[in-house]
Amino acid sequence: MISVKTAHELEQMRVACRISALALKAAGEAIEAGITTADIDKIVYDTIIRHGAKPNFKGLYGFPGSACISVNDQVIHGIPSKKVVIRPGDIVSVDTGAVIGGFHGDNAATFACGKVDSEAQRLMDVTRESLYKGIAAAVVGSRVGDISAAVQAWVEQNGFSVVRSFVGHGVGKKLHEEPEVPNFGTAGRGPRLVGGMTLAIEPMVNQKGYGVKTLSDEWTVVTADGGLSAHFEHTIAITANGPEILTVAKEEA
Ligand code: MG
Repeated sequence: MISVKTAHELEQMRVACRISALALKAAGEAIEAGITTADIDKIVYDTIIRHGAKPNFKGLYGFPGSACISVNDQVIHGIPSKKVVIRPGDIVSVDTGAVIGGFHGDNAATFACGKVDSEAQRLMDVTRESLYKGIAAAVVGSRVGDISAAVQAWVEQNGFSVVRSFVGHGVGKKLHEEPEVPNFGTAGRGPRLVGGMTLAIEPMVNQKGYGVKTLSDEWTVVTADGGLSAHFEHTIAITANGPEILTVAKEEA
């Protein structure tokens, strides 16, 4: 079952999503040479707690951190560590989520540490753009496959590849709900989109091949060929007025 949120539930989703976005913003602003991924995780944790929410990744399936922090060839699910020091030229994918009032938010972005090489910059740009192509396709009456196809087309036109093994998802009272939202697929296929659905759209894009493997820590997913990877994600709502991005880092009025 794909859950459809009431107007009141969407209001609660906006709260959780805003806090998730503030945590991601704080992480991005903290990235500099010499910081460890454990330091970034602490900033994410503190931001979420300060706003009265809880980090929904912590303890989920046993994950030890508040954020997943994945550097360079790491795709997703990097475990924050004091041993991982960010260096100039690194690209750092941070995924954060918060739960408050029984509703979840989820978002991610890849940040550059200082100046990165032009191919890394292009990978980040294309991945971010592909997320917005997917969001633009998330309209009432369309299907999940329209989102998937829009993301995939933009990525592949630009010579990169979309990860197959991990996908976006519905989000709401649980962090991971139906439906799956793949970043590859066929327009016109999959579940029909109706107003009140809330989805986490999250392209994971590799510089070279789309293959990935999981490291022996049983969490960190890396590219199989050692190429770079980037990840951008928003939680959105399907509405009669078009897609609404819920993970917006607005400060309180
Ligand atoms: Mg997600």
